[in-house]
Amino acid sequence: MNPSFLHALSMEEMKVWLQGQKEPVFRAKQIFEWLWKHGVFDVDKMTNLSLSLREALRSSFIIQPLTKVHQEESTDKETTKFLWQLYDGKMVESVLIRAPGRRTVCVSSQVGCPVRCAFCASGKGGFVRDLSASEIVCQVLAIQQELQAVEDERITNVVYMGMGEPLRNYDAVVESIRFLSDPAYLGFSKRRITLSTVGIVENILRLANDGVGVNLAISLHASRQEIRQKIIPYARQYPLEEIMKAVDYFHEATGRDITYEYILLAGVNDRIEDAKDLCALLRGRQGSVNLIPYNAIPGITLQRSTTRDIGAFREYLDRMGIVNTCRYTKGTDIAAACGQLALRESMGEDGGAV
Ligand code: SAH
Repeated sequence: MNPSFLHALSMEEMKVWLQGQKEPVFRAKQIFEWLWKHGVFDVDKMTNLSLSLREALRSSFIIQPLTKVHQEESTDKETTKFLWQLYDGKMVESVLIRAPGRRTVCVSSQVGCPVRCAFCASGKGGFVRDLSASEIVCQVLAIQQELQAVEDERITNVVYMGMGEPLRNYDAVVESIRFLSDPAYLGFSKRRITLSTVGIVENILRLANDGVGVNLAISLHASRQEIRQKIIPYARQYPLEEIMKAVDYFHEATGRDITYEYILLAGVNDRIEDAKDLCALLRGRQGSVNLIPYNAIPGITLQRSTTRDIGAFREYLDRMGIVNTCRYTKGTDIAAACGQLALRESMGEDGGAV
């Protein structure tokens, strides 16, 4: 059975459903406000609806697509990680990252991940299922509620950098972007939404052609096909050269600059030759590099680059005029890298995967 999420209904669809229930259509607006303005997931809090209408909603739809099962804050208070249970018992996670003037939510787009990058926890258990647009957007809605109630703050940015490969769940992700950005729903500026992909060429082109309008981040991690293939087995399907052509097309079509994510792994992609390759790849292209020190994951033998090697790598990029930032992995103490919390949840006490 395909689950019906109340959040998935347009105003028109809501009106049609209400007519079927012999309810006045103006209730659609009230329900919409409860969902999208007040972020309410409990029909009993929709106090201006009759008890019978609340009951009908409850029996026809999933109103709370996710339930929080765990929340953890890093010691520096910059990062909060949320673990959610979905209607079918599956788990996904989101991360809230606090920076001056910014509250960024990192959302998951799939349960598990088909990409299986060597350094990432999300792909360890393989791909489980796609998230629906409602399940994606409700991660933002639920955190928004909490942030507002507890800290009187609002989310400013959304990044698709949690579990999953967003461009392998194209339709739901694009629909969730509509929910996030359409003023009738959440009304975020698309300039504050970033989609991160390992490089699914045909869907980078589609994103540009469909005028989706969000920022693009490419998980590059290596600037040579041979090295990239070693850490991203999926990269065999999508040669770097083709990814870069698609990225250039995206830039031409949208005018947006691209961010390149690059996890620094000791002895794998962090030497000066690698920095040279990266500069050669980006020469003549707009965009910036986000260097990410690897966040250790149990059972993975890769190692974070030394501070000295990271410094030398950055210095080389600086000298070559490549704009870069180094994201010292926030929330290391709460396992805030992609998929880590969900992975830990499925492991035994001794840390061995079950
Ligand atoms: N599939 C998409 C979205 C997942 S986000 C993509 O590949 O872009 C992937 C990002 O998660 C990586 O670019 C990296 O920034 C981060 N990440 C994953 N595992 C990590 C780890 N062990 N340490 C640090 N960052 C990690």
